[in-house]
Amino acid sequence: MDMSGLTEFLHDRFDEEKLAALTALAAGPGPWQEAPDGSRIVDADGTTVASVAIGKSRAVVHHIVQNDPARLLREAAAKRQLLALHAESPAMVNRCRSCGVIDSPCLTKRLLALPYIHHPLYLHEWRP
Ligand SMILES: [Zn+2]
Repeated sequence: MDMSGLTEFLHDRFDEEKLAALTALAAGPGPWQEAPDGSRIVDADGTTVASVAIGKSRAVVHHIVQNDPARLLREAAAKRQLLALHAESPAMVNRCRSCGVIDSPCLTKRLLALPYIHHPLYLHEWRP
């Protein structure tokens, strides 16, 4: 077990992201795409899943499409695999099995946590 709690923190964030993505996918199957008029996001069946206020539409719609829930689920799965690769060595406590770094969390795990730096449970000592 990661003595710093970073592994658990990351699993909790990944779980939250997965739940949010699955909840969003309930609105319509992916991949989500930009509607031809650029004002809304449509699902794989062409049904509108979200509309954006006029005047801000193109960039916001593009951003939402780039963060399609199906893609976020794949990203979360990849991050979980990366986290597993950097678990503690079963032979030595506080040593990353991949990096070999002692006094984990290793840099890879710290970097995985960096997007959550403003989360209230993020610890300053995790900052790379
Ligand atoms: Zn590592």
